[in-house]
Amino acid sequence: MRPEEARKPMHHSMNLSRGKRRMSDGLRPCVRSKTDSGVAHCKRKRSNDSELDKHNQLLEKYQSLDAASVKLMQKVPRIELGRFVVETWYPSPYPAAFYPDGKLYVCESCLSYTSTKRFLEHHMTKECRLRKKPPPGPRVYFEKADDLALFEVDGKTEPTYAQNLCLLAKLFMDQKTLYFDVTHFRFYVLCRVDKEGYHIVGYFSKEKVSPEHYNLSCIVIFPQFQRNGYGTLLISISYEISKHDGLLGTPERPLSAHGRATYLEYWKTMLLPHVAASSSLTVGELAACTGMLPEDVAQTLKACDLLRPSKTLSEVASRTIRGMSSKVRAELASLRALRLCNPRQFAWNKVATT
Ligand SMILES: [Zn+2]
Repeated sequence: MRPEEARKPMHHSMNLSRGKRRMSDGLRPCVRSKTDSGVAHCKRKRSNDSELDKHNQLLEKYQSLDAASVKLMQKVPRIELGRFVVETWYPSPYPAAFYPDGKLYVCESCLSYTSTKRFLEHHMTKECRLRKKPPPGPRVYFEKADDLALFEVDGKTEPTYAQNLCLLAKLFMDQKTLYFDVTHFRFYVLCRVDKEGYHIVGYFSKEKVSPEHYNLSCIVIFPQFQRNGYGTLLISISYEISKHDGLLGTPERPLSAHGRATYLEYWKTMLLPHVAASSSLTVGELAACTGMLPEDVAQTLKACDLLRPSKTLSEVASRTIRGMSSKVRAELASLRALRLCNPRQFAWNKVATT
Protein backbone atom coordinates (compact mmCIF):
# COMPACT_ATOMS: atom_id res chain seq x y z
CA MET A 1 0.00 0.00 0.00
CA ARG A 2 1.20 3.45 -0.79
CA PRO A 3 0.83 5.84 2.15
CA GLU A 4 -0.10 8.70 -0.10
CA GLU A 5 -3.14 6.66 -1.10
CA ALA A 6 -4.10 5.91 2.47
CA ARG A 7 -7.72 6.08 3.36
CA LYS A 8 -8.12 9.65 4.44
CA PRO A 9 -8.19 12.68 2.17
CA MET A 10 -5.23 15.03 2.15
CA HIS A 11 -6.94 18.14 3.32
CA HIS A 12 -9.53 20.59 2.35
CA SER A 13 -10.13 23.97 3.80
CA MET A 14 -12.73 25.46 1.56
CA ASN A 15 -15.75 26.68 3.40
CA LEU A 16 -19.33 25.66 3.07
CA SER A 17 -21.01 28.24 0.93
CA ARG A 18 -23.48 30.47 2.68
CA GLY A 19 -26.59 32.22 1.56
CA LYS A 20 -29.61 31.23 -0.41
CA ARG A 21 -27.98 29.66 -3.42
CA ARG A 22 -30.32 27.06 -4.70
CA MET A 23 -29.23 23.46 -4.90
CA SER A 24 -31.09 22.73 -8.08
CA ASP A 25 -28.02 22.86 -10.24
CA GLY A 26 -26.16 20.52 -7.98
CA LEU A 27 -28.87 17.99 -7.27
CA ARG A 28 -30.40 16.72 -10.40
CA PRO A 29 -31.50 13.13 -10.46
CA CYS A 30 -32.30 11.40 -13.65
CA VAL A 31 -36.03 11.86 -13.54
CA ARG A 32 -35.87 15.60 -13.91
CA SER A 33 -37.58 16.77 -17.05
CA LYS A 34 -36.23 20.27 -17.43
CA THR A 35 -33.27 21.12 -19.55
CA ASP A 36 -29.72 21.02 -18.33
CA SER A 37 -27.16 23.23 -20.01
CA GLY A 38 -29.23 23.24 -23.13
CA VAL A 39 -29.52 19.47 -23.34
CA ALA A 40 -33.08 18.28 -23.24
CA HIS A 41 -33.97 15.60 -20.76
CA CYS A 42 -36.52 12.94 -21.46
CA LYS A 43 -40.02 14.40 -21.21
CA ARG A 44 -41.92 11.33 -22.29
CA LYS A 45 -44.53 10.12 -19.86
CA ARG A 46 -43.91 6.63 -18.61
CA SER A 47 -46.04 3.98 -17.00
CA ASN A 48 -44.45 4.70 -13.65
CA ASP A 49 -45.52 8.35 -13.68
CA SER A 50 -46.74 8.36 -10.10
CA GLU A 51 -43.45 7.03 -8.89
CA LEU A 52 -41.55 9.60 -10.90
CA ASP A 53 -43.80 12.39 -9.66
CA LYS A 54 -43.17 11.35 -6.10
CA HIS A 55 -39.48 11.33 -6.84
CA ASN A 56 -39.67 14.83 -8.30
CA GLN A 57 -41.68 16.12 -5.37
CA LEU A 58 -38.96 14.97 -3.03
CA LEU A 59 -36.41 16.72 -5.18
CA GLU A 60 -38.36 19.97 -5.26
CA LYS A 61 -38.78 19.86 -1.50
CA TYR A 62 -35.10 19.38 -1.01
CA GLN A 63 -34.23 22.15 -3.42
CA SER A 64 -36.02 24.60 -1.17
CA LEU A 65 -33.47 24.01 1.57
CA ASP A 66 -30.71 26.52 1.95
CA ALA A 67 -27.08 25.89 2.71
CA ALA A 68 -27.54 26.21 6.47
CA SER A 69 -30.13 23.47 6.46
CA VAL A 70 -27.91 20.94 4.80
CA LYS A 71 -25.52 21.18 7.71
CA LEU A 72 -27.93 18.68 9.22
CA MET A 73 -26.82 16.20 6.62
CA GLN A 74 -26.65 12.50 7.25
CA LYS A 75 -24.34 9.78 6.19
CA VAL A 76 -25.19 7.86 3.04
CA PRO A 77 -24.21 4.30 3.92
CA ARG A 78 -23.29 3.12 0.42
CA ILE A 79 -23.15 4.37 -3.13
CA GLU A 80 -23.16 2.54 -6.42
CA LEU A 81 -20.75 4.21 -8.82
CA GLY A 82 -19.99 2.48 -12.08
CA ARG A 83 -19.36 -1.18 -11.37
CA PHE A 84 -18.49 -0.55 -7.72
CA VAL A 85 -20.57 -0.44 -4.57
CA VAL A 86 -18.60 1.70 -2.15
CA GLU A 87 -18.98 2.11 1.60
CA THR A 88 -18.88 5.81 2.44
CA TRP A 89 -16.98 7.46 5.28
CA TYR A 90 -18.62 10.79 6.08
CA PRO A 91 -21.92 12.66 5.70
CA SER A 92 -22.79 14.57 2.57
CA PRO A 93 -25.92 16.66 1.99
CA TYR A 94 -27.72 14.21 -0.24
CA PRO A 95 -31.39 14.09 0.70
CA ALA A 96 -32.21 11.06 2.82
CA ALA A 97 -35.22 10.32 0.64
CA PHE A 98 -32.83 9.37 -2.12
CA TYR A 99 -31.32 6.45 -0.26
CA PRO A 100 -34.26 4.77 1.47
CA ASP A 101 -32.51 1.43 1.38
CA GLY A 102 -29.17 2.83 2.48
CA LYS A 103 -27.76 3.03 -1.03
CA LEU A 104 -27.50 5.95 -3.43
CA TYR A 105 -27.03 5.40 -7.15
CA VAL A 106 -24.65 7.82 -8.84
CA CYS A 107 -24.19 8.18 -12.57
CA GLU A 108 -20.52 7.60 -13.27
CA SER A 109 -20.57 9.97 -16.24
CA CYS A 110 -22.41 13.12 -15.10
CA LEU A 111 -22.40 12.35 -11.32
CA SER A 112 -26.09 13.08 -10.87
CA TYR A 113 -27.79 10.68 -8.51
CA THR A 114 -30.99 8.84 -7.91
CA SER A 115 -32.64 6.43 -5.52
CA THR A 116 -33.00 3.19 -7.43
CA LYS A 117 -31.10 1.07 -9.88
CA ARG A 118 -33.99 1.32 -12.31
CA PHE A 119 -33.95 5.12 -12.31
CA LEU A 120 -30.21 5.08 -12.80
CA GLU A 121 -30.45 2.73 -15.76
CA HIS A 122 -33.17 4.86 -17.29
CA HIS A 123 -31.01 7.93 -16.86
CA MET A 124 -27.93 6.30 -18.31
CA THR A 125 -29.70 4.95 -21.37
CA LYS A 126 -32.13 7.81 -22.05
CA GLU A 127 -31.10 11.04 -20.42
CA CYS A 128 -27.46 11.33 -19.49
CA ARG A 129 -25.82 14.09 -21.51
CA LEU A 130 -22.37 12.64 -20.79
CA ARG A 131 -23.12 8.98 -21.49
CA LYS A 132 -19.86 7.35 -22.53
CA LYS A 133 -18.37 10.81 -22.78
CA PRO A 134 -15.51 12.30 -20.76
CA PRO A 135 -15.99 14.91 -18.03
CA PRO A 136 -17.09 18.25 -19.54
CA GLY A 137 -13.84 20.00 -20.24
CA PRO A 138 -10.64 19.78 -22.25
CA ARG A 139 -8.28 16.86 -21.78
CA VAL A 140 -5.07 18.24 -20.38
CA TYR A 141 -3.14 15.05 -19.61
CA PHE A 142 -3.12 11.53 -21.03
CA GLU A 143 -1.12 8.41 -20.22
CA LYS A 144 -1.81 5.99 -23.02
CA ALA A 145 0.06 3.11 -21.40
CA ASP A 146 -2.22 3.15 -18.37
CA ASP A 147 -5.31 4.53 -20.11
CA LEU A 148 -5.43 7.49 -17.76
CA ALA A 149 -6.82 10.86 -18.77
CA LEU A 150 -7.20 14.13 -16.87
CA PHE A 151 -9.88 16.67 -17.75
CA GLU A 152 -10.15 20.30 -16.70
CA VAL A 153 -13.70 21.22 -15.69
CA ASP A 154 -14.51 24.90 -15.19
CA GLY A 155 -16.87 25.40 -12.25
CA LYS A 156 -18.36 28.46 -13.88
CA THR A 157 -19.33 26.86 -17.16
CA GLU A 158 -20.12 23.43 -15.69
CA PRO A 159 -21.71 24.14 -12.29
CA THR A 160 -23.92 21.06 -12.32
CA TYR A 161 -21.04 18.67 -12.82
CA ALA A 162 -18.81 20.54 -10.38
CA GLN A 163 -21.43 20.63 -7.64
CA ASN A 164 -22.26 16.98 -8.07
CA LEU A 165 -18.55 16.20 -7.87
CA CYS A 166 -18.29 18.12 -4.58
CA LEU A 167 -21.27 16.28 -3.13
CA LEU A 168 -19.77 12.95 -4.10
CA ALA A 169 -16.33 13.85 -2.77
CA LYS A 170 -17.79 14.95 0.57
CA LEU A 171 -18.69 11.32 1.26
CA PHE A 172 -14.97 10.73 1.67
CA MET A 173 -13.95 13.93 3.46
CA ASP A 174 -14.58 14.70 7.11
CA GLN A 175 -14.47 18.47 6.92
CA LYS A 176 -16.45 21.16 5.23
CA THR A 177 -16.08 21.62 1.56
CA LEU A 178 -17.85 23.71 -1.02
CA TYR A 179 -21.03 22.51 -2.64
CA PHE A 180 -22.52 25.48 -4.40
CA ASP A 181 -20.10 28.25 -5.10
CA VAL A 182 -17.91 26.44 -7.60
CA THR A 183 -17.56 29.41 -9.96
CA HIS A 184 -14.06 30.33 -8.88
CA PHE A 185 -12.59 26.86 -9.11
CA ARG A 186 -11.32 24.46 -11.72
CA PHE A 187 -11.67 20.75 -11.17
CA TYR A 188 -9.07 18.37 -12.55
CA VAL A 189 -10.79 15.03 -12.94
CA LEU A 190 -8.75 11.87 -13.41
CA CYS A 191 -10.39 8.99 -15.30
CA ARG A 192 -9.50 5.50 -16.32
CA VAL A 193 -10.55 4.95 -19.90
CA ASP A 194 -11.72 1.69 -21.48
CA LYS A 195 -14.17 0.56 -24.11
CA GLU A 196 -17.03 1.06 -21.66
CA GLY A 197 -16.25 4.74 -21.22
CA TYR A 198 -14.66 7.00 -18.64
CA HIS A 199 -14.42 5.90 -15.01
CA ILE A 200 -13.78 8.65 -12.50
CA VAL A 201 -10.81 7.85 -10.27
CA GLY A 202 -10.46 11.09 -8.30
CA TYR A 203 -9.84 14.77 -8.69
CA PHE A 204 -8.33 17.88 -7.27
CA SER A 205 -9.76 21.38 -7.25
CA LYS A 206 -7.88 24.62 -7.65
CA GLU A 207 -8.78 28.25 -7.26
CA LYS A 208 -8.61 30.13 -10.54
CA VAL A 209 -6.87 33.04 -8.83
CA SER A 210 -4.85 32.53 -5.66
CA PRO A 211 -2.65 35.29 -4.25
CA GLU A 212 -1.23 32.67 -1.89
CA HIS A 213 -0.04 30.54 -4.85
CA TYR A 214 -2.34 27.68 -3.91
CA ASN A 215 -2.18 25.14 -6.70
CA LEU A 216 -4.42 22.53 -5.04
CA SER A 217 -7.41 23.13 -2.78
CA CYS A 218 -8.96 19.73 -2.31
CA ILE A 219 -7.97 16.24 -3.44
CA VAL A 220 -9.81 12.94 -3.30
CA ILE A 221 -9.04 9.53 -4.72
CA PHE A 222 -12.15 7.39 -4.51
CA PRO A 223 -11.70 4.28 -2.37
CA GLN A 224 -12.05 1.76 -5.18
CA PHE A 225 -9.04 3.26 -6.94
CA GLN A 226 -6.72 3.83 -4.00
CA ARG A 227 -3.34 2.19 -3.51
CA ASN A 228 -2.34 2.91 -7.08
CA GLY A 229 -0.25 6.02 -6.54
CA TYR A 230 -2.90 8.34 -8.00
CA GLY A 231 -2.58 10.78 -5.09
CA THR A 232 1.02 11.71 -5.83
CA LEU A 233 0.23 11.60 -9.54
CA LEU A 234 -2.35 14.36 -9.02
CA ILE A 235 -0.03 16.34 -6.75
CA SER A 236 2.71 16.25 -9.37
CA ILE A 237 0.19 17.31 -12.00
CA SER A 238 -0.82 20.29 -9.84
CA TYR A 239 2.78 21.45 -9.81
CA GLU A 240 3.20 20.96 -13.55
CA ILE A 241 0.12 23.08 -14.18
CA SER A 242 1.61 25.85 -12.02
CA LYS A 243 4.87 25.60 -13.92
CA HIS A 244 2.98 25.88 -17.18
CA ASP A 245 1.44 29.08 -15.81
CA GLY A 246 4.90 30.33 -14.83
CA LEU A 247 4.11 30.17 -11.11
CA LEU A 248 5.42 28.54 -7.99
CA GLY A 249 2.83 26.51 -6.14
CA THR A 250 1.78 25.15 -2.78
CA PRO A 251 -1.26 23.29 -1.44
CA GLU A 252 -3.98 25.18 0.36
CA ARG A 253 -3.72 25.07 4.14
CA PRO A 254 -4.46 23.62 6.56
CA LEU A 255 -3.14 20.21 5.67
CA SER A 256 -4.24 17.13 7.53
CA ALA A 257 -1.56 14.99 9.19
CA HIS A 258 -1.79 12.60 6.28
CA GLY A 259 -1.59 15.45 3.82
CA ARG A 260 1.52 16.87 5.48
CA ALA A 261 3.24 13.48 5.38
CA THR A 262 2.33 12.94 1.75
CA TYR A 263 3.50 16.37 0.66
CA LEU A 264 6.74 16.07 2.64
CA GLU A 265 7.52 12.81 0.88
CA TYR A 266 6.70 14.36 -2.48
CA TRP A 267 8.81 17.45 -1.75
CA LYS A 268 11.79 15.32 -0.70
CA THR A 269 11.47 13.35 -3.90
CA MET A 270 11.52 16.54 -5.95
CA LEU A 271 14.21 18.39 -3.98
CA LEU A 272 16.89 15.94 -2.99
CA PRO A 273 18.07 14.96 -6.48
CA HIS A 274 18.73 18.66 -7.15
CA VAL A 275 20.56 19.01 -3.85
CA ALA A 276 22.64 15.95 -4.57
CA ALA A 277 23.53 17.11 -8.06
CA SER A 278 24.98 20.43 -6.98
CA SER A 279 26.95 21.92 -4.14
CA SER A 280 25.91 25.49 -4.66
CA LEU A 281 22.13 25.70 -4.72
CA THR A 282 20.26 28.11 -2.48
CA VAL A 283 16.73 27.78 -1.17
CA GLY A 284 15.56 30.25 -3.79
CA GLU A 285 17.26 28.34 -6.60
CA LEU A 286 15.76 25.06 -5.38
CA ALA A 287 12.33 26.68 -5.41
CA ALA A 288 12.87 27.73 -9.02
CA CYS A 289 14.03 24.22 -9.97
CA THR A 290 11.07 22.44 -8.44
CA GLY A 291 8.19 24.91 -8.65
CA MET A 292 7.85 24.81 -4.85
CA LEU A 293 7.47 27.86 -2.65
CA PRO A 294 10.70 28.78 -0.79
CA GLU A 295 8.84 28.21 2.48
CA ASP A 296 8.13 24.61 1.47
CA VAL A 297 11.72 24.13 0.32
CA ALA A 298 13.01 25.35 3.68
CA GLN A 299 10.52 23.19 5.58
CA THR A 300 11.63 20.12 3.66
CA LEU A 301 15.32 20.82 4.15
CA LYS A 302 14.72 21.28 7.87
CA ALA A 303 12.90 17.94 7.98
CA CYS A 304 15.98 16.37 6.36
CA ASP A 305 18.20 18.06 8.95
CA LEU A 306 19.90 20.09 6.25
CA LEU A 307 18.80 23.38 7.82
CA ARG A 308 18.38 24.31 11.44
CA PRO A 309 14.70 24.24 12.43
CA SER A 310 15.00 27.54 14.30
CA LYS A 311 16.14 29.53 11.28
CA THR A 312 13.65 31.75 9.53
CA LEU A 313 13.17 31.79 5.80
CA SER A 314 14.94 35.11 5.45
CA GLU A 315 17.90 33.68 7.34
CA VAL A 316 18.20 30.64 5.06
CA ALA A 317 17.06 32.11 1.76
CA SER A 318 20.56 32.62 0.42
CA ARG A 319 22.13 29.73 2.29
CA THR A 320 24.01 27.25 0.07
CA ILE A 321 22.89 23.68 0.65
CA ARG A 322 25.63 21.06 0.62
CA GLY A 323 25.29 18.38 -2.02
CA MET A 324 26.19 14.76 -1.42
CA SER A 325 26.55 14.84 2.32
CA SER A 326 25.86 11.69 4.28
CA LYS A 327 22.50 13.16 5.30
CA VAL A 328 21.47 13.71 1.69
CA ARG A 329 22.58 10.22 0.72
CA ALA A 330 20.62 8.70 3.60
CA GLU A 331 17.46 10.65 2.73
CA LEU A 332 17.75 9.74 -0.94
CA ALA A 333 18.15 6.07 -0.09
CA SER A 334 15.03 6.15 2.08
CA LEU A 335 12.74 7.53 -0.61
CA ARG A 336 10.14 5.31 -2.20
CA ALA A 337 9.38 5.47 -5.89
CA LEU A 338 6.32 7.70 -6.17
CA ARG A 339 3.94 7.73 -9.07
CA LEU A 340 4.51 11.06 -10.81
CA CYS A 341 3.26 12.60 -14.01
CA ASN A 342 5.21 12.69 -17.24
CA PRO A 343 5.48 16.34 -18.30
CA ARG A 344 5.56 15.31 -21.96
CA GLN A 345 2.04 13.91 -21.68
CA PHE A 346 0.39 17.29 -21.10
CA ALA A 347 -1.68 18.60 -23.97
CA TRP A 348 0.29 21.85 -24.23
CA ASN A 349 3.58 20.01 -24.59
CA LYS A 350 2.18 17.72 -27.24
CA VAL A 351 0.98 20.73 -29.21
CA ALA A 352 4.42 22.29 -28.89
CA THR A 353 6.23 19.23 -30.19
CA THR A 354 3.95 18.23 -33.05
ZN1 LIG B 1 -25.45 10.81 -16.14
